[in-house]
Parts: sequence; C-alpha cells; structure tokens
Amino acid sequence: MRVFAIPLRTRFRGITVREGLLLRGEAGWGEWSPFLEYPPEVAEPWLRCAEEAAAGDWPAPVRDAVPVNVTVPAVGPDQAHRIVLDGGCATAKVKVAEPGQTLADDEARVEAVRDALGPSGLLRVDANGAWPVDDAVAAIGALDRAAGGLEYVEQPCASVEELAAVRRAVDVPIAADESIRRAADPYRVRDLEAADIAVLKVQPLGGVRACLRIAEEIGLPVVVSSALETSVGIAAGLALAGALPELPHACGLATVQLLTADVAAQPLLPVDGDLPVGAALVDPHAVDLLAATADRVAHWERRLAEVRAL
Ligand SMILES: [Mg+2]
Repeated sequence: MRVFAIPLRTRFRGITVREGLLLRGEAGWGEWSPFLEYPPEVAEPWLRCAEEAAAGDWPAPVRDAVPVNVTVPAVGPDQAHRIVLDGGCATAKVKVAEPGQTLADDEARVEAVRDALGPSGLLRVDANGAWPVDDAVAAIGALDRAAGGLEYVEQPCASVEELAAVRRAVDVPIAADESIRRAADPYRVRDLEAADIAVLKVQPLGGVRACLRIAEEIGLPVVVSSALETSVGIAAGLALAGALPELPHACGLATVQLLTADVAAQPLLPVDGDLPVGAALVDPHAVDLLAATADRVAHWERRLAEVRAL
C-alpha cells in the first residue's frame, strides 16, 4: 500500500494537491482516492473500485481504445483555441457559467473552440449545475447557435427536477453529472426523465462491474468520466468504457494532464484523441518520488481502517 500526494497544475475543486492510496492486490494496483472531505460511508464504494482493480476483476473489453474529450476551462477565446489545437481530440468539453463571467464570455469561448475543432468536431458544454432553469434555457439556445450545434449540455442546473424541466424545454440533449454521485442516483435521473446521457464515474459508484450493471439497467448512453485520478484510477474508467456494449460519445478520461506528475511508467495521455484500454503499469520509482509525508500516510491509513470497519 502506498500513499501519493501529487500537486495539480491549477486549482481544481478547491484543491491544489491530489492525494490517494494505491492498493496492491493479486493482479496489480488499484487506486482509492475519495476526496478528503468525504465521510467513510461515501468513501466506501471508492474502495470497492480499488479492490476490484487490484484483484484484476474487470469484465472483458469489447474495444481496445476509447475516444476522449479535451477539456477547456473558463478561459479567454485565444487560450481556448490553443487548448483545443494542443489537445488533438475530435471532441471538446467547454466549461461555461463560471461565476463572475457573462453569457457573452461563454459564447466567445464556444465560438473559438468551434473554430479550432473545425465543422466535424463535437462540442459539448458543462455548466456544473450553475444556471436556474430559465437562464439555462436561454443560455443553451445562445450557445447552441454559437457552437453551430452542441453535442449536449452537461448538468445545466443543480437538481434532477430542474434538469428534467430544462430537458422538456430545449432540443439539445442533456447529460447528468453531479446529479449522479451515489448508486441510487442514476435510477432517479432515469425515472424523472431528466437526462439523455448519464455521466458515470467508477470510484464513487463502486467499480467497473457496478457501473456496467447501472448502465444496463438505466438504458441511457454513458459517458465515463474521471474523478481526477492518476493513471491507475483512469485505467479503471477505461475498463468500464472498454466494456460498455455501446460507446456513442467520447469520454472525460483525459485528466492525467491536470496533474504535475503520475505514478505510471506511461501516463494515460491521449494520442490522436484516444486512450488505450488496459491496466496501467506502475513505476515504483515514481511512486517513491510522489510519496506523501508520514502524517498524511497516517491519515490515509486511519481513513482506510474506518472504511473497512463499516
Ligand atoms: Mg461535469
């Protein structure tokens, strides 16, 4: 068992260092990296995901590569254009509805991203739940025009009820992300007809097999996304994306580049817009270099004991 602490390139979710634990099992390594504020009962499914990976208990893949999106933060149009060109992906996810910015800022960013992608690229936006229903309906119309067509809009509003209301009012498909954090959530999204697409993350939902079951039962197309993991955790997301019978949309798994370093010998960074399906090879030297301090190791050992005691 190893505890890592890896600085982020830029602040994300209010954190600047990503911490987690690598568990070694019979088949290899699994990542357990619930965010620090999560209590034991929330962190428990995350551990099942790590144990499944370490045991090598993943379903057989049906594809060996997974298309991924480049993510464009709420930056100015010039920088957005550059990020898309550097990313080399055919799909871009653009962050919108950033506090302190205007719809005009979002439109300019989206136009720049369309310009960089070209007409055949796919452009989705993510509002992280920031809009009230009426604002969402107006903004989605404006951004759909600025984009020359949106692939979908991710989490336009905070609640499942609001997502359903927006979905009834617009033609652009709706994806649920923050609305899906616990195992019961995807069924609620389905039952309220709140989304056209489900964003699934393997750690919070209890692993690859658990997500595969959810995907089957909700009958919605799935976009597999990361929880800001190292390549070991991303490989679990890729195992899900690789095993889904159908994968109509690019996944949000190209996030290793948000970390300043990685625990894998070959970090899972996209090549020609794809990531490979398969276990990540851990580099022992990198794990040594990224080891957390003794007090943080003690913290994670305590956390692990608390979750195992449940
Ligand atoms: Mg999102």
